[in-house]
Amino acid sequence: MSTIGHFIGGKTVFNSDGDIVPVFDPAKGAVICNVALASPTDVDAAVEAASAAFPQWSETSPLKRSRVLFKFKELLDKNHVALAQAITREHGKVHSDAMGEVTRGIEIVEFACGIPNLLKGDHSDNIGGGIDNWNLRQPLGVVAGITPFNFPVMVPMWMFPIAIACGNTFILKPSERDPSASIMLAQLLQEAGLPDGVFNVVQGGKTAVDALIAHPKVDALSFVGSTPIAQYIYTEANKLGKRVQALGGAKNHLVVMPDADLDQATDALIGAAYGSAGERCMAISVAVVVGDIGDALVEKIADRAKKLVIGDGANPDSEMGPLVTAAHKEKVVGYINKGIEEGAQLVVDGRDYTVKGRESGFFVGATLFDHVSTDMTIYREEIFGPVLAVVRVPDMATAISIINNHEFGNGVSCYTTSGGVAREFSRQVKVGMVGINVPIPVPMAWHSFGGWKKSLFGDHHAYGEEGIRFYTRYKSVMQRWPDAIGKGAEFSMPVAK
Ligand code: NAD
Repeated sequence: MSTIGHFIGGKTVFNSDGDIVPVFDPAKGAVICNVALASPTDVDAAVEAASAAFPQWSETSPLKRSRVLFKFKELLDKNHVALAQAITREHGKVHSDAMGEVTRGIEIVEFACGIPNLLKGDHSDNIGGGIDNWNLRQPLGVVAGITPFNFPVMVPMWMFPIAIACGNTFILKPSERDPSASIMLAQLLQEAGLPDGVFNVVQGGKTAVDALIAHPKVDALSFVGSTPIAQYIYTEANKLGKRVQALGGAKNHLVVMPDADLDQATDALIGAAYGSAGERCMAISVAVVVGDIGDALVEKIADRAKKLVIGDGANPDSEMGPLVTAAHKEKVVGYINKGIEEGAQLVVDGRDYTVKGRESGFFVGATLFDHVSTDMTIYREEIFGPVLAVVRVPDMATAISIINNHEFGNGVSCYTTSGGVAREFSRQVKVGMVGINVPIPVPMAWHSFGGWKKSLFGDHHAYGEEGIRFYTRYKSVMQRWPDAIGKGAEFSMPVAK
């Protein structure tokens, strides 16, 4: 059985002394390969390669860096299907969803291709006394990206295209659950002409992450994953004075107002709750139903949830695939049991779901709870599975209040036909990404992605303009030439003359 290795200094390498763990096809519940787990020695080799590549890459002109990215974008287009197949094989999501994931990653590359323009500074001519003031943005150095299992192509591509376009060198530490795509991306970057050492991959888990945090030559870290790990990485790397952006978990609400079109709201909830088996940080896991439309809406959702086509993601008819691992399946089933125990009404039960011919796969069927209250575990905690909770509230003020009191603030959506309600909702809600009649409001590549509260630790959101700011340091320069310099020392605070 093959083992997925690391990609360091332009070469695929295997462990010096680390361990290996199995990688599963979740639809079959079978091991398909192994992945090497990097030891601190492997991490050190990657950091040294990235550090050695930095001086030349950071001095390469932005236009030349962007030409490499243009070529990379062409290669991504050519390999779009192969990347999507690798995602489905190790993550389990359905092929059309995996194709969409790759597209979203390509869009970041397209944005990063504009780096000469994006790095353009501001210039103030003659602020006084023959002095001009201008600013520039410079790369940070060696940057590490630590990414989750649920988007093995898109989330790394929220990070590295912008980081390397800005002149940094990069080390990706992908999830050990679906590692193949990271190596495919590394090989495509090499084929596009990226110099060796600019982009490196170390596989692994906590040991590799801790080695990246502690390494004195790693200048900054981007993290996307669960909140406890985000908080840990943010705290530990901050102690060492490193720049960190750490995006965490979520519990996203979709509010259905009494004036909403219930069929549109049902479509939105079905896709956003059960798409990718609920394993999206922007998945909707709570429907907040306002007024007396609860019974009608729950009936419509239940009817559709029972008819979902669940199966192997490689089967083009499947609308929803399996969960990523047996352990994660067990965790999700545990939450369903907890919901019943705590008194929520189980309307559609996805436990004990089997798919013909894929009996060992990690499947959980679409699950729907009604009459969920805000003190229940299934309301408070992120489940990350195909479980939708319906909370009934009397009015919009209560809907906004419960959302604002939730510890997460990643995404939110409101279905309404009223402009006034939509405007008020967008302004009042304490959440980073808002959709009005849009269930999954993931910002486009030239805007920026990120939540509030325990969904993001750090000052910058991911990609877009915020990504450029995160991966560069701002510098202001004041300059004048000797013929503009007056005689004598000045002891008062310099002001514009
Ligand atoms: P995870 O936190 O378990 O793992 C994320 C990364 O951290 C992986 O690379 C993993 O190897 C590493 N890691 C795991 N345990 C670690 C430890 N103890 N110390 C250091 N590193 C460790 O998350 P996951 O299960 O891969 O992904 C699902 C989570 O990611 C969900 O909570 C989801 O909401 C979140 N997520 C958030 C966003 C966002 O943009 N906010 C996007 C995607 C996923």
